[in-house]
Amino acid sequence: YSNMKKEYNAFLFFDMDNFKHINDYYGHETGDRLLKITSKKLKESISDNDILARLAGDEFAIILTNLGKDKTVAMERASSATENILNNFKEPVFIDDIRIDLSFSIGIKIFPDNDKSPQDVITNADIAMYQAKKDGKNRFHFFDSQLDMESKRYLKIKNELKYALQDGSNELQLYYQPKVSIKTGKVVGFEALLRWDRLDGQLYTPDKFLFATIGNTLGLKLNRYVILSACNQLIEWKKMFKDFNMRVSINISAEQFSNENFEKELFEIIKSTNADPTMIDLEIVEDALLKDTQKAIASINRLKELGFTFSIDDFGTGYSSLNYLYKLPVDALKIDKSFVMNIFKEENASIVKMIIETAKLFKMKTIAEGVENKEILEYLKKFGCDEYQGYLFSKPLPPKEIEEIIAKEYQT
Ligand code: C2E
Ligand code: MG
Ligand code: MG
Repeated sequence: YSNMKKEYNAFLFFDMDNFKHINDYYGHETGDRLLKITSKKLKESISDNDILARLAGDEFAIILTNLGKDKTVAMERASSATENILNNFKEPVFIDDIRIDLSFSIGIKIFPDNDKSPQDVITNADIAMYQAKKDGKNRFHFFDSQLDMESKRYLKIKNELKYALQDGSNELQLYYQPKVSIKTGKVVGFEALLRWDRLDGQLYTPDKFLFATIGNTLGLKLNRYVILSACNQLIEWKKMFKDFNMRVSINISAEQFSNENFEKELFEIIKSTNADPTMIDLEIVEDALLKDTQKAIASINRLKELGFTFSIDDFGTGYSSLNYLYKLPVDALKIDKSFVMNIFKEENASIVKMIIETAKLFKMKTIAEGVENKEILEYLKKFGCDEYQGYLFSKPLPPKEIEEIIAKEYQT
């Protein structure tokens, strides 16, 4: 880095457009071969003095060196070099007989500049890459310090999250919210809900950070972390409480569920923690089942064989048709809180009632989320709903406080 201070250089941050889709669609082997072809082509596009590196997954970096002592000239040289690289990818790539049209979003940071460290150069190139993506992919964008708030927020969260996910950091935690039987009033299980206990003292709910993990490797890491810590928690509670038989629900995002490695990783965690799958419920949203219903059903069936149960989360907000609900081997429907919280409105009451009746027809359980008061609970009881979750009984709480609830349940 210090050797590069005599002339201007450019750091190019490459992100392959739609790599995730290619990977999901054609499989990892094809994805790997594509990455190899990509690095070969990138290597051919640069000169001997330039540097090529793979940063992570589908992210590559190129440093164009010796671009001269004039910044404008350096920018022009960087633009034309980048255009040349993009041109090299104009022709489709063939892997066996699969045709793949490749494109990249590229962020460029010219340095030396005001950057305090090499890491700053990379971060600023990453910000510029995000801009290129937002502008419509297959293009490059120079870093400028006038970037909009949204890009800055995205990058800030993504970077902070990277540190929060490192081993030894305790910032990401699972809180748990009790699920209560409407008939008996007893706690039957807990839903694991992610919280980010930040260094600045704020506690973030998932809506404040999950967006920054979509489509990148952070998401994979986070998902793994959630399953691992829920399994460890189950084991710990089993040790703490004799005859512990409350179940834990884990939220699985659509992206996570459709990932090729999902089942394999789940098995590995179950094996390494020794957690009992019959104590684990997997919550998936309707959208997770839409893309390839046959494949989703096969996956659910394999996991049910091992003892996992499945619930459809936020039910009523997606696109399920009755015809396809009939085919789904799921155990429960979770009625979305938007209907439950406003059950006093005639139309919502009808929807809730209809969901409960449909579920009974298909031999599924119903769980209502967002039960904030007794009046709502009365409605649900009348309609024959099985379980509820909500502030009426308890907010999501850290494990220590959940343990007090468990202890009380086992006393009575
Ligand atoms: P969800 O799975 O539908 O979770 C229910 C949400 O409703 C939770 O929000 C919970 O705190 C909130 N809630 C529960 N009872 C009440 C109530 O009585 N009133 C109101 N107003 N809200 C209530 P939270 O924890 O902010 O999570 C939001 C969403 O983030 C979750 O919706 C879930 O889709 C996602 N999420 C949470 N944790 C994870 C995770 O570990 N992995 C993944 N993939 N997604 C997660
Ligand atoms: Mg859920
Ligand atoms: Mg929900």
